Amino acid sequence: MSLDAVLKRIDDEIPAALDRLFDLLRIPSISTDPAFKADCARAADWLVDDLRSLGFAAAAHATPGHPMVVAQGGEGGPHLLFYGHYDVQPVDPLSLWDRDPFDPELQDGARGKVIRARGASDDKGQLMTFLEALRAWKAVHGTLPCRLTIFLEGEEESGSPSLIPFMREHADALRSDLALICDTGLFQDTAPAIVTMLRGLLGEEIVIRAASKDLHSGMFGGLARNPIHVLSKILADMHDETGRITIPGFYDGVSELPEAIRAQWQNLAFDHAKFLGDVGLSIPAGEEDRTPLEMIWSRPTAEVNGVTGGYTGDGFKTVLPGEARAKVSFRLVGQQDPQAIREAFRDWVRARVPADCEVTFEGHGASPAGTMGIDHPAFEAARAALVAEWGRPASYVGCGGSIPIAGYFKTELGMDAMLLGFGRDDDQIHSPNEKYDLECFHKGIRSWARLLARLA
Ligand SMILES: [Zn+2]
Repeated sequence: MSLDAVLKRIDDEIPAALDRLFDLLRIPSISTDPAFKADCARAADWLVDDLRSLGFAAAAHATPGHPMVVAQGGEGGPHLLFYGHYDVQPVDPLSLWDRDPFDPELQDGARGKVIRARGASDDKGQLMTFLEALRAWKAVHGTLPCRLTIFLEGEEESGSPSLIPFMREHADALRSDLALICDTGLFQDTAPAIVTMLRGLLGEEIVIRAASKDLHSGMFGGLARNPIHVLSKILADMHDETGRITIPGFYDGVSELPEAIRAQWQNLAFDHAKFLGDVGLSIPAGEEDRTPLEMIWSRPTAEVNGVTGGYTGDGFKTVLPGEARAKVSFRLVGQQDPQAIREAFRDWVRARVPADCEVTFEGHGASPAGTMGIDHPAFEAARAALVAEWGRPASYVGCGGSIPIAGYFKTELGMDAMLLGFGRDDDQIHSPNEKYDLECFHKGIRSWARLLARLA
């Protein structure tokens, strides 16, 4: 009965909720560009005011970068932390936007009304789904549903330089039973989904030097070593003919899918022919004994991201190059150790470089995979809440990309995190004409209310 009252309140309040979201969207909180530093602070202050209006004790904490908003409120029940980010991506090229990115508007879209503005989906619209659910709850019940910590970051789109130091310094204020993160999307645009696996990332740049300078392939060709040949052979050898990666120890820490998750994934109507067809392909290219969803969610990869060397300009030049370069990245899963894989990869490359050639490496980012523990009762409660709202099965899914914050809650604060969000693939986050479907905003708010009703 009281949930019905909260849901009705949400439905009645949508116009006012949109007004509030539009106010936040009008603030150009681009975190990577110092010209918008004051705007980032303004967005943080706006959120502090809004949280105070909900009865939270809230403050914007200064950092060397942009402020962190932390708020405490409510009592009883599980202690939940909610994370979102109020900063947004730059808007260039502005000429590709059909209107001012910071002048939000409700427009007609393919699935009904859309909220058009930078940050509409990533992540202001998504973070406001949670605050609006709390607002409706408070209006009906007079109190917040349970003990809550709200944690809103302003540097997510620029590498989160202040995040780990801040989490360590404020560990006692932030530590709670479970972190809720709203920065992800629906599965295939229609089915609600909880992300429980995120792949990690490791980057390596390799330079192979042979002759001390570029040579003439007529004078030296056949006698002098060609570093592009050396490099190409190494890159080709990273995978065997079944698609497995051949670097010794690479699969240490990679475990098989739990049966329950495997069964859910089998029931997901993932159309890999369409997924590949949309980019002009048809044949899955990963390990031959794996399903397409395993390939993108639960299996590690080795990819060559770029190769340079020799003459690549117009026309033709019979050069025998002195050096060749490649950028290689690995998506990591399970308990794979990024540093151990970096060392194993370098040893494996060195063993393949002829004695009169030289190899050097430049290491890029290294973040481990995140696997969420799903033992906390909130996970099953969230599945039930999402099914009730969306009328579709809700599944635990993987995410091929990397969302480091989820892992930091575990490593820095010992907390599990639950990632659920309501974005769609065509939201154009990080691109011109970003939008958030009004349906996603509305049902997102209702989804949180249903979850809180089950947990409080
Ligand atoms: Zn985001």
